[in-house]
Amino acid sequence: MSESKLMSWGRYPAYSQTAFLSSWRDDLAADVSHLVREHGSTLAFGKGRSYGDSCLARSDHVIQTTLLNRFISVDWGTGVIVAESGVTLEDIINIAIPNGWFLPVTPGTKYVTLGGAIANDVHGKNHHVRGTFGCHVKQFGLLRTDGSTIVCSPVKNKDFFEATIGGLGLTGIIEWVALQLMPVHSSNIVTTKIRFNSLNEFVELSNELDHKHEYSVAWIDCLATGNSLGRGVFIVGDHAHDEIFELRNNKRISVPIIPSVSVINRFSLYLLNNMYYRSHKPGRHAGIDNYDPFFYPLDQINNWNRAYGSKGFQQYQCVLPNVNSEEAARELLIAISKTGNGSFLAVLKRCGDIVSPGLLSFPIPGISLALDFPQSDGLISGLFSSLDKIVLESGGRLYPAKDAHMKAKDFRMFYSNWEKLDLLRDPGLNSRFWDRVTSI
Ligand SMILES: Cc1cc2nc3c(=O)[nH]c(=O)nc-3n(C[C@H](O)[C@H](O)[C@H](O)COP(=O)(O)OP(=O)(O)OC[C@H]3O[C@@H](n4cnc5c(N)ncnc54)[C@H](O)[C@@H]3O)c2cc1C
Repeated sequence: MSESKLMSWGRYPAYSQTAFLSSWRDDLAADVSHLVREHGSTLAFGKGRSYGDSCLARSDHVIQTTLLNRFISVDWGTGVIVAESGVTLEDIINIAIPNGWFLPVTPGTKYVTLGGAIANDVHGKNHHVRGTFGCHVKQFGLLRTDGSTIVCSPVKNKDFFEATIGGLGLTGIIEWVALQLMPVHSSNIVTTKIRFNSLNEFVELSNELDHKHEYSVAWIDCLATGNSLGRGVFIVGDHAHDEIFELRNNKRISVPIIPSVSVINRFSLYLLNNMYYRSHKPGRHAGIDNYDPFFYPLDQINNWNRAYGSKGFQQYQCVLPNVNSEEAARELLIAISKTGNGSFLAVLKRCGDIVSPGLLSFPIPGISLALDFPQSDGLISGLFSSLDKIVLESGGRLYPAKDAHMKAKDFRMFYSNWEKLDLLRDPGLNSRFWDRVTSI
């Protein structure tokens, strides 16, 4: 077991984690029990791509799984892979694509472990047709900190299966996972990109096109106001059928240092948002993209989170139920554009109605909006407090994987199953997030 220091992706809150890297599944029980004995509790840590405090241990001592990265079995006839929980989505893509398979669900970064993808029950651009990651998990092995292991599936130890999917790492350490992949005929994605001028146009495009395509997402210019409020670029895509299976290893640039102040500010945001919007001509434009730039544009800049400076940043991601979604999204965008403190990475997407097995899964049918904000002293008490009010009144909810501010009372209202998870929580596992949202 070796040690290193880690933080969450947003680098806020700034609780530095001492990480113990476990190398072998056979040693994991002893490594975890050592941490619990020494520090009272611990938490699994994958690639730390969660933005807020859900991946930070209450004890600030985590067990990192990235060396538990071996494939156990693969069956290219059925597309079922069994792998250790530290295997990343990138690792899976690298072996799956040449064999004609792809991830059934992928978030906007491939630097995510299997364990992390299950614990946050991540969703992607095809939520409306495939649901969440947890919908494709066939089985996993769960190690409890007392040394016992439980094999969980939709029929075996169903209570632990459901509590662990979206269970924020609190029910045990996932040791290995059996995942069903999706067959594809190409590594390319056939796309249509459409510039739209208002939120209402986004809703019309989503109604017209979502059900016809595997993938659907929109980028919006969150600084636009008045008649242009909610303008952006709508993107739909489907796997091509050209039988080309090409892994892409894009050259990456890097943010080498953490500047003392954020380089993302009013001025740079205005320029970037405007440039991106205007780089897309009006009308519908067909194209073809390799899977890598299509799904993972941000992965092409190493350590892009450093651009937010030493204070870090917070992401605000909510989902607004269909019935109130357009009105509530409009109110959110008005509140954000008024501050001038918007995000270049504002993403709008429709979540579908496929129910996840996970007790605390985030998506509900409606519109999800995600924006990044440089951390500043008044952010939570000012802007986030106004946004929370709109989300609450609309019947929506916030995403724990991205969160560093949700109030305990709001969390309990959003996730009424939280007590069921708490009952199955391993007493040796706790996070900064769980402590924050469940303490009175
Ligand atoms: C650029 C970017 C884009 C993103 N896009 C999306 C998106 O489109 N959709 C989406 O849903 N999310 C998205 N995310 C969030 C990301 O997918 C999730 O936070 C994911 O869970 C991170 O996985 P990780 O391996 O880094 O886990 P970590 O962040 O290290 O940990 C996340 C949780 O998983 C638990 N965990 C990790 N390993 C195990 C294990 N072996 N056993 C038990 N619990 C474990 C941890 O305790 C913690 O609670 C994005 C993040 C980034 C940085």
